[in-house]
Amino acid sequence: MADVPESLARIVRSKLTAGTLPHDDPQTVTARNGSAESCAACDQTIQLSQIELEVHYRNWPTISFHFGCYRIWEAERQRSAN
Ligand SMILES: [Zn+2]
Repeated sequence: MADVPESLARIVRSKLTAGTLPHDDPQTVTARNGSAESCAACDQTIQLSQIELEVHYRNWPTISFHFGCYRIWEAERQRSAN
């Protein structure tokens, strides 16, 4: 559970490279209480007590992130866009 952000950033980066996570800007992002979905970045369950960000695309299945994982995904997307 003591995830080091650097290793998580590496996971997110490889998922972006593999195409498992989208590069494009989401259409909409909804914040809500966790719904026991698994996080698209770290694959851990998003607990009911945690904030879940639900990311919607037109041409991509809806994906869910922990709040912190969403921030890492966003940072890595911007980094890879340059
Ligand atoms: Zn996560």
